[in-house]
Amino acid sequence: MLYSDIASVFDRIERTSSRLEMTSILSDLFRTLDPLSLRNVVYLSQGKLHPDFFPQKLGMSDKLVLKAISLTSGFSDDHVEKLSVKEGDPGTVAEMLMKEKKQMALFSESLTVERVMKGLIAIESSDGKDSQERKMKLLANMLHDSDPVEARYLCRIVTGRMRVGAGSMTILDALASSFADKSDRPEIERAFNVTCDMGLVAETLASGGMDAIRNVKVTIGNPIKVMLAERLPSLNEIMERMEGRCAMEYKYDGIRVQAHITKNEVKLYSRRLEDLTKNFPDIASSLKHALKGKEAIVEGECVSVNVNDGKMLPFQEVTHRRRKHGMENAVKEYPVRIFLFDILQNDGEDVTLRPYTERRDILSSSFGDDENIIMSNMRIVTSAEEAESFFNEALSAGCEGIMAKSISDASVYRAGSRGFLWIKYKKDYHTETIDTYDLAVVGAFYGMGKRKGRYGALLMASYDSEMQTYATVCKLGTGFDDAFLDSMPELLDKHKTNERPADVDSKMIPDVWFVPSVVLEITGAELSLSPIHTAAAGVFKEDAGLGLRFPRFTGRIRDDKGAEDSTSVSEIMELYEMQRM
Ligand code: AMP
Repeated sequence: MLYSDIASVFDRIERTSSRLEMTSILSDLFRTLDPLSLRNVVYLSQGKLHPDFFPQKLGMSDKLVLKAISLTSGFSDDHVEKLSVKEGDPGTVAEMLMKEKKQMALFSESLTVERVMKGLIAIESSDGKDSQERKMKLLANMLHDSDPVEARYLCRIVTGRMRVGAGSMTILDALASSFADKSDRPEIERAFNVTCDMGLVAETLASGGMDAIRNVKVTIGNPIKVMLAERLPSLNEIMERMEGRCAMEYKYDGIRVQAHITKNEVKLYSRRLEDLTKNFPDIASSLKHALKGKEAIVEGECVSVNVNDGKMLPFQEVTHRRRKHGMENAVKEYPVRIFLFDILQNDGEDVTLRPYTERRDILSSSFGDDENIIMSNMRIVTSAEEAESFFNEALSAGCEGIMAKSISDASVYRAGSRGFLWIKYKKDYHTETIDTYDLAVVGAFYGMGKRKGRYGALLMASYDSEMQTYATVCKLGTGFDDAFLDSMPELLDKHKTNERPADVDSKMIPDVWFVPSVVLEITGAELSLSPIHTAAAGVFKEDAGLGLRFPRFTGRIRDDKGAEDSTSVSEIMELYEMQRM
């Protein structure tokens, strides 16, 4: 398969904002590919060589890429760098210069997808002495045989800027349309949610059809998309929704961890699929030694504790465990415990489709005694009064609220979805003060007065999973201390982009745009109809969306959440409706 065919598809997708059109372009392409090429093309379309949970090591610096462009195009380093300052993206620079290439290639051989994959894997695996020079030459070698559009995407892939606009939901639509029926779409999505590997799902579907997809099971080593909770404003409503009887658990305020345990190895994943094993080596070791069976996948919340009295400490304490360096000291200084709340695989059996009470029984009997491992506090409640007293106990113990969990026969572990099988209830709702929102930063405005020379305010957005876009909710300029103001460029500038990202829906135009990546926790007074903001635009009133009034940064950077995990537009709509009740 020629790489130029793939690159021109990426180009066509980038030029459209219609999800239907993207789906049709992709499915036309998918149909022509053999299963293995399909797998690779799916990864490439997301700028990757592997599934999301693999540590991505491609990241070449802009400088190195510009050097490769200079080498192949014949333009001086100086000229290429100047153009890059103007354009902001080495991919665009490569495309422009390849059009005007000074050096005519004498021997040119068309790029195939196989050659590109090989070249990118070689770049990824170069390390040690002279590796930078080798990476640069490997890229130059491919650029030598590239046309302008191919060059654009090669440079975007190696610099981690590949965002053609087709998100995972569009790829799933395209897969269903190429190899199955529209009605099979939920099952294909389930396979993705339990493996987090779109390439694997594509290859499985193309080679084995829907029978193979239905057979996809949770597997040790492939993190599973976490199950999420809905929220309701009162315990009465929760009890009503749960038909008068449910399990309630403490809602611990820590870091969620999914542990994949075998007798040889333990891997801990965050809800963003990052590998957290090095951050919690003590927990990993306890889980390995205390597991009674051969293997399991369990979930729990890691919380800092005071080892003298066992009391839970505020969330800020456990964040010291997320640092990159000095882990040995952090492990000693900030002891944690894991509060286990679910099991997804037990001794080789996928238990996600078993009801909650069965999973809970399996979980409770799976581990021997270990001071680092504690079962989440759970009680079956049958009235709002019982729920209230459990909730108060949870708050006194230092938790942020409770999780109500369905105990019906249908109470499966629903990977990757938010539903009413789990309902969260936090102290914010109880005291009827403000609630918190986790919003993605999509832009920044330069500061004035005391903030001159720094970013003074940020444009914040929530994720619309239906449209696969980020819709703005507020302009945030309050709650920033000096340290945060100083740290903003380091936190945000790596996500800077010259134009509004294709998936950001905004009427406001900030001074700087960011690819949605960083998530901040925000409080606010209330949601109100807004002519400026685009969340739920046109839903409650024509020409108006929903905006958050008096937003304030709580000081908490949600680095455990990716932009797609930010408070969704549908949650914002529910909160707005709750507010009107
Ligand atoms: P939120 O981040 O506010 O949407 O709340 C959901 C998060 O609560 C989950 O992702 C877990 O990290 C956390 N959590 C704490 N305790 C529990 C529990 N007992 N069951 C499920 N999730 C819990």
